Amino acid sequence: MQILDGKIVSQAVKNDLTEKIAQLLRENKRPPHLTAILVGTNGASETYIASKIKNCEETGFKSSLHRFEENVTEELLMTTIKKINEDDEIDGILVQLPLPKHIDEQKIINLINPAKDVDGFHPVNAGKMVLGIPTYIPATPYGIMLMLAHYKLETSGKHAVVIGRSNIVGRPMSILLSQDTAYGNCTVTVCHSRTKNLKEICLQADIIVAALGKPCFLTADMVKENAVVIDVGITRVPDASKKSGFAIKGDVDFENVAPKTSYITPVPGGVGLMTIAALLKNTYQAYLQHSNNH
Ligand code: NAP
Repeated sequence: MQILDGKIVSQAVKNDLTEKIAQLLRENKRPPHLTAILVGTNGASETYIASKIKNCEETGFKSSLHRFEENVTEELLMTTIKKINEDDEIDGILVQLPLPKHIDEQKIINLINPAKDVDGFHPVNAGKMVLGIPTYIPATPYGIMLMLAHYKLETSGKHAVVIGRSNIVGRPMSILLSQDTAYGNCTVTVCHSRTKNLKEICLQADIIVAALGKPCFLTADMVKENAVVIDVGITRVPDASKKSGFAIKGDVDFENVAPKTSYITPVPGGVGLMTIAALLKNTYQAYLQHSNNH
């Protein structure tokens, strides 16, 4: 069993970007600028945003944050996004999800200029991804693809089972793995809450991507020998022994599953770090595209 180490791979991606940004500064150019919109005080969202900002700073990106109260109006969010769309000094926009119930998430996402949609959630970018046209790929699936490439894992002809069909993880992951690309060409089965015989399906998988948000859901009896297991899950579970009062758990029963696998991602230290690295790569790409157009 080998660990697919998100620390090592994300650091390699960030080192490359740090060098590229240092070069921009040497040429007296401005660095890429990512701006984030955060609504409310959800603990997990606060942590994700803080981490994204920290990684921007470490890599030399400029970052900014627009914070709003939980009861912000849809109109105010829309006005803010329109202003950011028109701001030539901003390359990437990120709206931290989930938004409060009274806000129509899709309406907000649809308003983002697709050229600045570094999360890849806008219908234009989602459509391009499906068609295999170069675009911003949602950061978590993109990060997983970068990880497969870093470790040069053979995917062609393998049976991949993706558990979860969300628009931000499961669905794009299943599409990327099925495409005719270097780390695609899998035969993909997408599973969800209505799937019958999930255990039997997982037992046929050469690659399993667990993205359902249920701690320790994937157990050793569901995994065949030498499978590759990618754990996307991030759930906070109460843990009195931690200063924060909670521990982060993945969707995989790591302790018992890991010995059966050929490769596995840990949580934390796996996909989460790759997600941020992929977001930075998308933002750098947005910067290049933006610079070419001005
Ligand atoms: P989501 O929108 O809640 O989607 C969960 C998916 O799992 C749904 O498609 C659901 O099926 C399916 N599912 C739920 N219970 C199931 C079961 N018992 N058997 C089979 N499928 C089941 O979640 P998400 O946004 O995709 O996120 C999934 C997990 O990844 C969460 O823990 C989240 O925190 C984590 N995450 C991590 C990162 C990272 O950077 N590592 C990034 C994003 C998300 P239905 O469609 O039928 O409801």
